[in-house]
Amino acid sequence: MMRQYELVERVASYIDEPDENLLNKAYVYAMQKHGEQKRADGDPYFSHPLEVAAILTDLHLDEETIAVALLHDTIEDTDATRREIDEIFGAKIGHLVEGLTKIKRLDLVSQKAKQAENLRRLLLAISDDIRVLLVKLSDRLHNMRTLGVMRPEKCERIATETMEIYAPLAGRIGMQDLRDELEELSFKYINPEAYKAVMGHLADIGEKNEELTFQIAEIIGNKLKSANINARVSSRRKKPYSVFRKMESKGVTFEQLSDLYAFRIVVDEVEDCYRALGLVHTEWKMVPGRFKDYISVPKQNQYQSLHTTIVGPANQRAELQIRTETMHRIAEFGIAAHSNYKDGTDDQNESTAYTSLRSTIAQLAESDSPEEFMEHTKLELFLDQVFCFTPKGRIIALPKGATPVDFAYAVHTDIGNSCIGCKLNGKIMPVITELQNGDEVEIIRSSKQMPPAAWESVVVTGKARSSIRKATRQAVRKQYSTLGARMIERAFARAEKQYDQDMLVASLPRLARKSIMDVQAEVGRGEMSANDVIKAIYTDYEPDETTKPKRSKPVGTDEEKPSRIPIRGIKSELPISFSKEGGAVPGDKIVGILVPGEGITIYPSQSRLLEKYRDDGAELIDLRWDIDEEHPERFPARIRLLVGNKPGTLAMVAEVIARNDGNIQNLNMKVLVDEFVEMEIDIDVWGLPHLTRIIEELKSKPVISKVSRITQ
Ligand code: MN
Repeated sequence: MMRQYELVERVASYIDEPDENLLNKAYVYAMQKHGEQKRADGDPYFSHPLEVAAILTDLHLDEETIAVALLHDTIEDTDATRREIDEIFGAKIGHLVEGLTKIKRLDLVSQKAKQAENLRRLLLAISDDIRVLLVKLSDRLHNMRTLGVMRPEKCERIATETMEIYAPLAGRIGMQDLRDELEELSFKYINPEAYKAVMGHLADIGEKNEELTFQIAEIIGNKLKSANINARVSSRRKKPYSVFRKMESKGVTFEQLSDLYAFRIVVDEVEDCYRALGLVHTEWKMVPGRFKDYISVPKQNQYQSLHTTIVGPANQRAELQIRTETMHRIAEFGIAAHSNYKDGTDDQNESTAYTSLRSTIAQLAESDSPEEFMEHTKLELFLDQVFCFTPKGRIIALPKGATPVDFAYAVHTDIGNSCIGCKLNGKIMPVITELQNGDEVEIIRSSKQMPPAAWESVVVTGKARSSIRKATRQAVRKQYSTLGARMIERAFARAEKQYDQDMLVASLPRLARKSIMDVQAEVGRGEMSANDVIKAIYTDYEPDETTKPKRSKPVGTDEEKPSRIPIRGIKSELPISFSKEGGAVPGDKIVGILVPGEGITIYPSQSRLLEKYRDDGAELIDLRWDIDEEHPERFPARIRLLVGNKPGTLAMVAEVIARNDGNIQNLNMKVLVDEFVEMEIDIDVWGLPHLTRIIEELKSKPVISKVSRITQ
């Protein structure tokens, strides 16, 4: 067992003039309180808090944290009280110890259903002070190291919890070494056979290849030396759990895993990294697709390194990480090469809060005044985070204010794009609900879904926002190109020229466009005229006056003209819009006005606005209805009534409309003279016959003297 003075010396190795008094008091107090207590393996109980404290000295933590580590089990397991600890050590330490006590009680609850609540409370405690988490993780690490003496079921339960909650938490705050060890220990208990197999393989390889590994490292080292690059080359031990996970996710055997040799090259300067890379690539073949430059583009968690894989000596693939000393230190403080995909999340999902936590911890280790930095770590970091679960129990960290839509995108872009609803803790809720810590979120998906553009203003994560924007952009582009394709076909039909897409492909260079879709989208947007497309294919083509769209024939003639663009409805695959009041309804003859960049606005052909557009030289597009009988939609129409000013008249009008399946959206009344009232009513109808039926019945009422339809 570590002696009192040894502990003080350890702290003094990284803190000038540490608060020895505090350390000594905590050591003695905890030792006395735990007294004769024994651990399950027969060791004195006090050895446990002492080991936890020792782990924390390796992380260069401050005296208060070390004291809290020594005291962390006293309230729970001895007759110590919060009040007593407050009196001896101050309220701050008392508060931290109590926080740990609360979490400890949570460990005892094993049901899966309680896990979310446990985590929520754990995180509340953490958000109070990051040191609670640091002590808790070290506590868990020591318990995992000494787990073997417990009953197998208990071992498995604790190991599972460690794997699911504590290891990812350690990873997220950048303590990669701690995480690796927690995972390795958990793996051993959760899947003993696989663990044994992987460890066996690794040991075999290690033994068999020890010489080769050494040689490769030496050859690389000498090569660098001869080029005057000061470098340390070391082999990296593969982590059994990460090997296992790779085998599982790629569905391969151990033998098929190619990159079991891994080396790290640490150099002095950034430019040495690139020089070293050049040398290595000159000497050996690089494996295509494996090179990553995290120096010029660091991971969001600030990890920097060059990664490459070469076919090295003896034809063995070797994975190389090349970095400077500084980069190495940052990485050691938690940002391992594969941390992002190991979490099953991608870079963007990692919040800056964790990044700052990582750098804080990194700074802490280097700092002259750890205390000062601890002050800063008082988890503003976690304060603006919510932690939620997938139905399978995976933790997703999101910024405060995040919605299920953010959650969906955090899990996977495809899940976000296909999200149509959600269940929070088993209950169907709106997707704009603000998530709370511990919520279990189930995303309801549909393959037909396209994220509504309005969601962009609902989400808070950059990933969700950019994905929605991208999906919206793609959908709009598709709409325009669909419209453009039809406009092009229409133009060719009108010009009586033969047309197919192959001809267009051949003329792309003449149009200076890369793809058919580019051409279609530009025509659809009104940025390129369909006649230019004809000219690109038939170079001698001269549009005559009658085929110029601006001088379109009077609308409404030539009913069966095949070049009319079919319009399905409000939710169209085309970039169209209907007037919300007094617009066109199916059965009306319709005309579209192409507004460059905004798509087509649809008007009934009797609209007075059309004349004005025509005079302005806007492009009029012939349209026809193509109503889907299976999925009819309502369209807004507006009528104006002149009615006698008598009680009950309004009720009668409403009754007629309702009985005829009309849907009143809006109603305005104004008294003209004493006897007469003018009403303007917006009704959603299925089409012109439906609207006509309503108008006819209204007309038949004696009290109504005039009914007319109003169009824009
Ligand atoms: Mn403990």
